[in-house]
Amino acid sequence: MMARRSNIPSLLDRLPLVRGRIEADADLAPRAWFRTGGLADILFEPADEKDLADFLAATPSDIPVTVIGAGSNLLIRDGGVRGVVVQLGAGFSTIQITDDGIIHAGAGVMDVKLASAARDAGLTGLEFMRGIPGTMGGAARMNAGAFGGEVKDIFAGARGIDRQGRYCDFTPAEAGFAYRHSAFPADVILTRISVHGPPGDRAAISARMAEIAAERSASQPVGARTGGSTFANPLEQKAAGRKAWELIDAAGCRGLRAGGAMVSEKHCNFLINCGTATSADLEQLGEFVRSRVMQHAGIELHWEIQRLGESGGQP
Ligand SMILES: Cc1cc2nc3c(=O)[nH]c(=O)nc-3n(C[C@H](O)[C@H](O)[C@H](O)COP(=O)(O)OP(=O)(O)OC[C@H]3O[C@@H](n4cnc5c(N)ncnc54)[C@H](O)[C@@H]3O)c2cc1C
Repeated sequence: MMARRSNIPSLLDRLPLVRGRIEADADLAPRAWFRTGGLADILFEPADEKDLADFLAATPSDIPVTVIGAGSNLLIRDGGVRGVVVQLGAGFSTIQITDDGIIHAGAGVMDVKLASAARDAGLTGLEFMRGIPGTMGGAARMNAGAFGGEVKDIFAGARGIDRQGRYCDFTPAEAGFAYRHSAFPADVILTRISVHGPPGDRAAISARMAEIAAERSASQPVGARTGGSTFANPLEQKAAGRKAWELIDAAGCRGLRAGGAMVSEKHCNFLINCGTATSADLEQLGEFVRSRVMQHAGIELHWEIQRLGESGGQP
């Protein structure tokens, strides 16, 4: 059992009443794919957009607010996250398809679910999301991509709410997508994502999705406690198009271990929690891999996994 933090009651007193769910000292580890990490002072699951907007407007500005999606691209440090962590649930899970082939999804919809809904409606372009295990909010923030497609290619617009509780809309140009990057303001919580889905052949869409699923399970440790690709593929000229995994492999890091953390044997740009890893084990191993690649190839790898919260504070 992790220790309750003493400042939580006074923090709770400063928060507005909500219709959604509030939990103090919430264990974030079950909410991260790595299954590691500490407590959130407060976890808030808003009932709907208005609940979230009212909450943000009434929450004093010195209280930090952080949003998480499905936690598939997160390393939540062992000391946990101060302030409020927002996670969008059932109130952000609708999918609506309009006659003009635009698909509107709540930011809490899982990518795979959206890809399947598009397939069922005979709409193409979303097949690449088969197997990206996050939500649409996380996908838009990260410009998630795979198998030759990325969110940027299908994005029609998004709506979000800023730290003051104001609604904001984003056009594709305003989203500022680049490789695994977007330019949505850091304080904005995306609530709805709209994507293009032109008509396609349902059988061909299904076949492509099945192919992608099979390729993924052949090449990635999909059933493991992992955060997906740890480092972004380097874009600098010196890397000459070599992928992060090739550099990691060449630096002799495949299968390396630190505590309960390991560099995957199957895909060496994936870190794995073998069962007993802490976030510190995973982060230290990642940093060690970065230093080995720098020594070996002179190339700096950058974390693609987002690291949140404070170090320390072991259970
Ligand atoms: C097995 C495995 C395979 C993967 N394969 C791929 C892949 O092929 N391609 C790829 O691109 N990624 C891949 N990933 C990484 C991950 O799935 C993606 O980055 C995904 O888009 C993250 O979505 P999420 O909902 O889990 O976001 P989280 O991991 O929870 O958060 C990621 C970032 O998005 C922000 N965020 C989340 N929700 C919102 C919101 N509503 N509004 C604003 N910001 C938000 C968070 O603050 C954080 O900065 C993989 C991960 C795993 C574990």
